[in-house]
Amino acid sequence: MKLATIGVGNAGSKIVDRMLEFESQTDRNLCQHVHAINTARTDLAKPDYIPEDRRVLIGDTNQKAKGHGVGGDVEVGAEVAKADIEEIRRAFDDVDIHEVDALLVVAGLGGGSGSGGGPVVIETLQEMYDEPVYGLGVLPGKYEGGRPALNAARSLQSFVTKVDNFIGFDNDAWRAREQTIEEGYEQMNRELAARLVTLLAAGETDDSEVAENAMDSSDIIRTLDTGGVSTIGYAATEVDNDAATGGLLDRWSTGDAAPEDDSSKATKIQGLVRRAVNSRLTVPAEISSADRVLVVLSGPPSEFSRKGIESARQWLEQEADTVEVLVGDDPRRKSPQLAAAVLLSNVTETPRIDEIQNQAVDAQEKIAEQEAVREEEINDLITDENDDLDPVV
Ligand code: GDP
Repeated sequence: MKLATIGVGNAGSKIVDRMLEFESQTDRNLCQHVHAINTARTDLAKPDYIPEDRRVLIGDTNQKAKGHGVGGDVEVGAEVAKADIEEIRRAFDDVDIHEVDALLVVAGLGGGSGSGGGPVVIETLQEMYDEPVYGLGVLPGKYEGGRPALNAARSLQSFVTKVDNFIGFDNDAWRAREQTIEEGYEQMNRELAARLVTLLAAGETDDSEVAENAMDSSDIIRTLDTGGVSTIGYAATEVDNDAATGGLLDRWSTGDAAPEDDSSKATKIQGLVRRAVNSRLTVPAEISSADRVLVVLSGPPSEFSRKGIESARQWLEQEADTVEVLVGDDPRRKSPQLAAAVLLSNVTETPRIDEIQNQAVDAQEKIAEQEAVREEEINDLITDENDDLDPVV
């Protein structure tokens, strides 16, 4: 698949930057167009891979933002994006939409710029293009507290109703206790980028030697067509690529493949797919609640096995309790790894989302209570006991 990828806010831009890094490290070419949109000038200076002329500063003339961000205020994030909507539209002037199959908007939902601005950007892209617009949203960790949870719960509603499919990433599930928050984010962003790019880059190669079970963009689009919230599982194993000689089709057609060889490859593929499904998902979810499933096997074609793909598919049909399971391959001749990326589309049982909503309702109540008594408390503080004193002016 070929994408136009847009990072909104700080987390969104950092994740897109890591996607570009993973692409360049693995010789992929997924993101045909990229943009970083942000309200904070300093954050826009951070990416290593997003070209400078693809970074869009919004809200620099807004009184509350002035180029310094929106301080985690989701309302201001949305307001600023709406006010600068023409500038955002203009950034897409030179995007040749015929070159892309879909658009992906990436944001952290716990802050202000991505959480508030993301849905505004999505709405605009949906108006501008017929291609599907997907969202990738980072759910804040519990440790961040009530305000990020409230931002995320509200933004999630906007994201999921406006996008064609929403892929989630849960910071809580991916947090490693022994790391600092920044170190943790770096690692999470790399893990997430590997999953996204391995999955979505399937079928993007112009390799003429396409394998028999090759996955293409229409398979991915069909799987994501359910709407709702999706999650990704992933597993990879090193392979001895020097031993790779010729493609699967060659060996089948000449009958050269030794039967035991193919069966050990089949076992390897089956094991890898099981590991991916049982791995830590980007958002932990009940697998059987998925509507559709797609597996991309990415690696040297010599590692593929039709039998392995077929048995992985049968196993997944039972595991996910759906007949809508696609398993296909993405030949990467030079890859030192065989990887399985599993997309579980429209998972309806995701405990962390319920938890965030509960945290958000509590936070909203607390904020309302504080607001209700704030004026009274200030008044009490500055007024003397018998109200004998008067203000100067
Ligand atoms: P914004 O710039 O106002 O959109 O806010 P940020 O993107 O800085 O932060 C929004 C939320 O994203 C935070 O509450 C965190 O949950 C999360 N976050 C921030 N940076 C990262 C990151 O690099 N990786 C991940 N996974 N999450 C992040």
